[in-house]
Amino acid sequence: MKMKYFPFNREFALQMPEFLPRRLMWCLIFGCTAAACGTANRTDPSMNTNADARYQVQGLERPGLKLAIKEAITRVPRHRFVSEELSDIAYSDRALPIAHEQTISQPYVVALMTQAANVVDGSKVLEIGTGSGYQAAVLSELGAKVFTIEIIPELAADAKKRLQTLGYQDINVRSGDGWQGWAEEGPYDAIIVTAAAPSFPPALLEQLAERGKLVMPLEGDEVGLETLVSVQRVGENFVTSSLGSVRFVPLKGEARSGAVGLGKEDLKQPSALESFMDEQSEQSRFETKTTDGNSQQTVKKKVQ
Ligand code: SAH
Repeated sequence: MKMKYFPFNREFALQMPEFLPRRLMWCLIFGCTAAACGTANRTDPSMNTNADARYQVQGLERPGLKLAIKEAITRVPRHRFVSEELSDIAYSDRALPIAHEQTISQPYVVALMTQAANVVDGSKVLEIGTGSGYQAAVLSELGAKVFTIEIIPELAADAKKRLQTLGYQDINVRSGDGWQGWAEEGPYDAIIVTAAAPSFPPALLEQLAERGKLVMPLEGDEVGLETLVSVQRVGENFVTSSLGSVRFVPLKGEARSGAVGLGKEDLKQPSALESFMDEQSEQSRFETKTTDGNSQQTVKKKVQ
């Protein structure tokens, strides 16, 4: 015997009013379709607000991340920041390629850097390395005022357009070398560098507000493996913390052409700051593998 139960075709749909009121029928059809689409694949082509969006981003279940940061990340449509071919894996916890051989960072690392930089609602943040604009969008979702610099002009232009289309009107994108920062808009509560350098750019340390934090990947001896470091300004001193091993694309431009950065030789451990450092260490410790056990050091040298 042929199965005749719920043959959901046009013929059946037209017959349905016999069983159900027409309005209820369309509610059911629409409701089922929406549920089948799920949240992760939701698109919001022309919406200028992401307030209602929730994307299921992998990697955020790891311990230690603040709720506000996780929520901000789930509001950003990451599939709009990668090419269409990659949209199926846009919400996986991995770095993905973007144009010009650059990458969009993995969501967990975006969360980690944002948290380490103490970004909160109202923070003024400078990002070096706009790339796709994804990290900038996350910062903006948190309520930060964002300034971001990208050295590849085409990427800067694309990111600017993309962010505007998605409704991130308050993100300022500039094309150029970020080594010297964006002095006119400083000081910043947080500076996030999303490409790896051999040393700290002095101008960025200079543009940090009191208690402001710089977070960036620092190159070590091993090629292709960097240490994520945070540096907090305390008066004329800079307290550093290691947050773990990461992989980033290299910072280009002045960083590679003989510009003098602040390196390990500038790091000292003055006893006057030790208690402060311990306190900070407790607050900013993450459950992530570290290369040197959350080592903390202080840049005593005054930035010129
Ligand atoms: N934050 C980005 C990921 C960036 S990848 C995102 O969320 O998508 C690193 C980016 O830094 C690349 O786009 C690269 O072009 C840029 N970059 C490298 N050196 C730079 C420099 N000196 N100044 C500004 N941007 C730089």
